[in-house]
Amino acid sequence: MNILVLNAGSSSLKWQLLDSRTEVVLARGIAERIGEDGSSHSYTLGSGAGAEKAKKRSVAQPLARHDEAIVALLAALTDPQEGLLSSLADIVAVGHRVVHGGDYFSASVVVDDEVLATLDEISPLAPLHNPAAVSCIRAARKHLPHATHVAAFDTAFHQTIPAAAHRYPIPLALYDKYKIRRYGFHGNSHRYVSSRAAELLRVPLRDLKLISCHLGNGSSICAIKDAVSVDTSMGFTPLDGLMMGTRSGSIDPAIVTFLQRHEGYTPDEVDEVLNKQSGLLGASGVSNDLRDVLNAQEEGNEQARLAREMYAYSIKKFIGQYMAAMGGVDVIVVTAGVGENSPIMRRAAFEGLERFGIAVDPWRNIEGDKGSGHGEAAGLHGAGPGEFKFSPQGSRVKLLVIPTNEELMIAHDAKSLLVM
Ligand code: AMP
Repeated sequence: MNILVLNAGSSSLKWQLLDSRTEVVLARGIAERIGEDGSSHSYTLGSGAGAEKAKKRSVAQPLARHDEAIVALLAALTDPQEGLLSSLADIVAVGHRVVHGGDYFSASVVVDDEVLATLDEISPLAPLHNPAAVSCIRAARKHLPHATHVAAFDTAFHQTIPAAAHRYPIPLALYDKYKIRRYGFHGNSHRYVSSRAAELLRVPLRDLKLISCHLGNGSSICAIKDAVSVDTSMGFTPLDGLMMGTRSGSIDPAIVTFLQRHEGYTPDEVDEVLNKQSGLLGASGVSNDLRDVLNAQEEGNEQARLAREMYAYSIKKFIGQYMAAMGGVDVIVVTAGVGENSPIMRRAAFEGLERFGIAVDPWRNIEGDKGSGHGEAAGLHGAGPGEFKFSPQGSRVKLLVIPTNEELMIAHDAKSLLVM
């Protein structure tokens, strides 16, 4: 029996097929440029055990809608020559990543007509993301009517954030009318790395004060206490909080009206500037990719150096906030592209915090991700590939790198809600 996990972007569809018992990934793929010229579908069949025998395929094919991408991936999985499934009936559940669940969903749910109607109602809260996910759910239900379809929300994990932390000090009437509040995102990632950290440290999550830092092209930080999210840096939208690849993160809101008055920006132009032209890209003038910014800094680019400092400072400020919010911290986990791969940023973000029990071990920080792939070498027993500790032996606050696995979380939820 297998579980299919679907992650729909506005013009892309990422997918994974997992064995429902072993949770091994059997196949994965991505359809890109859906609805545009030059769409394509790339996938790997057999990417779990026996990866050396995996078949990689990349097919250029017109994909006008997400529905057609689903048809293409199901055809690849059931291809008579090299497909992995003899029948679509082998897919018992489909886990759908949905970015926004509003304040309706505090956990993953089995999708029925009522859930779909609610998702339609929420769509204005995430106009770039939710409509694609919803059309994917509709298409997948059509092509896999026998399977249990489960929606897993990026926002659900943060529904435990208390009102004092999730409400904004704006007129109550605006909250009532539009439900303008902090929702938070990356919930499946924060949920995965926090539970994995507890597992690796062999301490129940409810006994840990944990800060989870998802540092990728999009970034957010989450404070987790008593095993639930108590605050997070993204807000009403994923624009809030940390400085990111192309997103500004938190800025004085009056900058928006200033730009509208002085540059004549429309709402769409403000969105474009703050979501796509800011962050590392805007501040460095080089790139949204930290690797490029670090290279430019090496070559003496002063703006790149400043952008790197701003990025690290933005992380450090949230660590301070969440230590204050929780009355301390026991574990800090970093994950995603930057968190998993950049020792320079890990050092920069956490240096100078020694009096709070936070210290970076220089050797582990650099060598931890290069060793055998087993965290034992860097002080963490039972660690899997890419997982390691980068705080020194005996340090009060444990600093961990844990590669995120949102798809596994979604598959778990789909399995636990499976209707047989
Ligand atoms: P993600 O959104 O999690 O895929 O993260 C992508 C981002 O991770 C890229 O834009 C880079 O900024 C960053 N990244 C990936 N590898 C490295 C690396 N070796 N050093 C620094 N940053 C990296």
